[in-house]
Amino acid sequence: MNPVIALVGRPNVGKSTLFNRLTRSRDALVADFPGLTRDRKYGNGVLGGKAYTVIDTGGISGDEEGIDAAMAEQSLQAIDEADIVLFLVDGRSGLNVADEAIANHLRINQKKTWLVVNKTDGLEEHSAMADFWQLGIGDPHPIAAAHGRNVTALIEEVLAPF
Ligand code: GDP
Ligand code: MG
Repeated sequence: MNPVIALVGRPNVGKSTLFNRLTRSRDALVADFPGLTRDRKYGNGVLGGKAYTVIDTGGISGDEEGIDAAMAEQSLQAIDEADIVLFLVDGRSGLNVADEAIANHLRINQKKTWLVVNKTDGLEEHSAMADFWQLGIGDPHPIAAAHGRNVTALIEEVLAPF
């Protein structure tokens, strides 16, 4: 089975934009995946001869009470199904309380998690990253999903162990 990459983060950070970019290849299909629901969207892609599956999630607002509520059920399920979690944050709006709530969940999860700072187009990468170290998820990886900046390199790195 292909390695499964879940895209997790609060709404509007660019998860669906990244999903579309990662599944744009001609042979991308909606995966025939057990437990498919309308709240999680599955797609396939290929990079450097490696096939992968990506799960897009609707996002977690963080306005709910408590981490169980804050992590929308479908995002938790996507994390369960994944081999790799890409935790997206927004480099333009900076760190947000919802990001911190999600990070708290991901830190106790055993899944390999990558912190991805999106929307870094037009930003100086170094200062755009500075805020996000404090999430405790490891080093932030700058991308611009809408423009493809750093996306191929990131996914190659993410897929390297598979
Ligand atoms: P989602 O709610 O996390 O799925 O976010 P979307 O993919 O729907 O994107 C939310 C908004 O951010 C849209 O207006 C996108 O065009 C914009 N966006 C996504 N990626 C980028 C990016 O790399 N740079 C910029 N400047 N905007 C982006
Ligand atoms: Mg979306």
